[in-house]
This record gives sequence, C-alpha cells and structure tokens, in this order.
Amino acid sequence: MVAVDISKILAGYNKKKISIATLGSHSALNIFKGAKEEGLRTVCVCIKGQEKVYKYFDLADEFIYVEKFHDILNKETQEKLVEHNSIVVPHGSFNAYINQDEMENKFKLPLFGNRTLLRWEVSREKQHEWLSTAGLKVPRIYHNIDEIEGKLAFVKFPGAKGGKGYFVVDSAKAYEKKIKDMLERKLITKEDAEHPYVQEYIVGVSVYPHYFYSPLKNEIELLGIDKRYESSVDGIFRIPVPELLGQKINPSFTVVGNFPMVARESLLNEIIRMGERISQQAKKIAPPGCIGPFCLETIVTENLDIIAFEISARIVAGCNAHIGGNPYTYLKYSEPMYMGKRIAREVKNAIKKETIEDVVT
Ligand code: AMP
Ligand code: AMP
Repeated sequence: MVAVDISKILAGYNKKKISIATLGSHSALNIFKGAKEEGLRTVCVCIKGQEKVYKYFDLADEFIYVEKFHDILNKETQEKLVEHNSIVVPHGSFNAYINQDEMENKFKLPLFGNRTLLRWEVSREKQHEWLSTAGLKVPRIYHNIDEIEGKLAFVKFPGAKGGKGYFVVDSAKAYEKKIKDMLERKLITKEDAEHPYVQEYIVGVSVYPHYFYSPLKNEIELLGIDKRYESSVDGIFRIPVPELLGQKINPSFTVVGNFPMVARESLLNEIIRMGERISQQAKKIAPPGCIGPFCLETIVTENLDIIAFEISARIVAGCNAHIGGNPYTYLKYSEPMYMGKRIAREVKNAIKKETIEDVVT
C-alpha cells in the first residue's frame, strides 16, 4: 500500500518549470536526452565522482550529489528535488539500491510510473504470477532441485543481479558443484545460495520488447526490441572447440551491453498482443495499472512460441540501444522517438491537459 500523498506535493509545484529527475546511472542518459528534446529541465542525482558522463554529454541542468544512491531517500535530497519541481523517472538502479518499502513509504516525490507495480517486479514469484495470469507462456518453475534430473534448468538468485552468478544445470549433483564454484568465484553470496530460483531452461533466441502504455491515449506502443550481450556465456564460443572441450567452464550471464533488434514481422502481432494482455492484467493486480514503460524478456523457440521469463515495470537499459529512434518508433511517429523522449512527451502532454496526476504515483 503506497503511503505517500503525491497530490499534495504536486499541488505545490510550478507546472511551468517541471524537471525530469533520476539517479545518474542505468538509463539516465536516455531519460535526460528525451527530457531536453521535449524542452524539460533535468536533475541528476549523482554519486560524487560519477558526474563525468553527464557533464560530457551536457544533459543535466542540475546535479544533486550523494554518497550512495540510497541517499536519494535523505530529507535534504528530497527537498532539493521538490525545489526543482521534479518528476522522478525510476530505472533499474532504483530496484538495485532502494528497497520497495522505502520506495512506497519514504520516497515522497511524484514518480513517473506505478509504485505498486514496481513491487510486483522485484519479486520473482509475483512476476511469474503477473505473466501467467495475463495469459503469457512462461517457463516451468522447479521448487525442488531433484525435479530437474535430466532436464536443463536455469538457476537465478534474488535481487537485481543483472545475470551475475546465474548458471545452467541438468542434475542435482551438477547443481551442488556449480553453486560451490559460484561461491568460490564470489559471483554469489551464501545468502544467495540459500534462495535459488530455478526455472526450466528455454532453448531459443532471446527477444526483449519494450512497451509504453500511455494513460492519456489508453494505448500500448511498441518502442523497440533489444538483445543482450552477457559475460561470459556470449564469449565462450570464441574459444576454439578443442580447447573449449578441455576446459570445465561454468559460464555466467552478467549483462555487459545490449543490441537493437527487429523481429520477424509475423511475430509482431503476438508481441503487441502480449503487451496489451500485460497492461490489462496490471489494471487488475495494481490499479491504475501500467504507466509509461514496461518491458518483457522472452525467448522465441524454434516453433515460434514466445516464452516470457521476466518483466520490468519501468524503463530497461535495453532502451538505450534506441536513443534517437528505431524502425518501430519511425513507423509510428515519423520522427526520432525513443523511451526517454516518449516519457517526457507524456509528462508534457499531461501538464498541458492538466492531468499530471494520471501519470505519476
Ligand atoms: P548499475 O547502476 O549499472 O549497477 O545497474 C543497476 C541495475 O540495472 C543492476 O541490477 C544491473 O544489473 C541492471 N542493469 C544495468 N545495465 C543493464 C543492462 N544493460 N541490461 C540489463 N540490466 C542492466
Ligand atoms: P535475467 O536476469 O532473468 O534477465 O536472466 C539473465 C539472462 O539469463 C537472460 O538475459 C537470458 O540470457 C538468460 N535466461 C534467463 N532465464 C532463462 C530461461 N528460463 N531460459 C533460458 N535462458 C534464460
């Protein structure tokens, strides 16, 4: 239950001087560039020493310096954000560094997005429930390691780890060995090892679509698709086969970057339908439902089944591969459009229509 009264804060804002604010990391460049292109001011909550990139691209009108991202919750930081009439855009670093209770109870700024859905995102069980009740195809979950015997399973750990320490196994014995190995390599902690989340491994290719739900237009937009480059799994096939066979490599999936992609055109109907179902279901599980960006992680199998294994209720870093636009946004807008700019446009339109309360929580 969200305990923050946003209307009161918004009532004190100068609507002619709204700023877009976020933490300086993850997709801040995307968010700031879009805000500036739409004529809004930008505020970067930045760790001292990490401002170089935002200065280099000249995208932040104001800096609020903090020692660690969690300090965005400090009273002084929040007061400075309010002084700048800030609408805060959450991204992956919010999930990684601030817990959900704090987001709901201590962070008293208008957030572009639905805070309650962010809680659905941080729990793997809740994600699975959201995806499956929306009618999407999802991987099987193994509750007992012995169930995987002879099948390929994917082992994940709690929190926003970006794939770090995740691995693939086919037996309980291999599982024990690999957990030990990941602990020794310090890719996971003891606590992680006690809370594994084991999914059926889906064989196919990864396709990660980015959607935008506009509360003002009541419409789903497909703003792009990406793929990830993950270490070390995407690197091991550069090792010649004879040497590879001799190594006992236990690769992990630490995300390093993203590629833009376009999907086979006949997949697009289903990709768009999936976004619509997710947003309809969001209205039921967490009213008012999606606000702005949400993104899926899927694997497309050889039968062209699309299996969804994760959902984010906010901008994902894969959107950064599309700053300036892509074929889908060009088809829809006939102008450069991308997630950061689309967010800023929704904020701008909501201010114009005096319906800003419909796009923040
Ligand atoms: P960072 O501030 O870079 O530590 O990122 C914050 C969170 O977002 C971490 O959980 C990362 O794993 C995740 N993240 C950062 N960049 C990416 C990316 N390119 N793709 C997917 N997840 C990312
Ligand atoms: P995640 O942190 O859940 O996004 O997972 C990190 C990476 O692991 C993804 O980008 C995929 O490459 C891979 N992955 C995750 N879940 C599965 C799955 N069930 N089957 C196959 N690959 C997966």
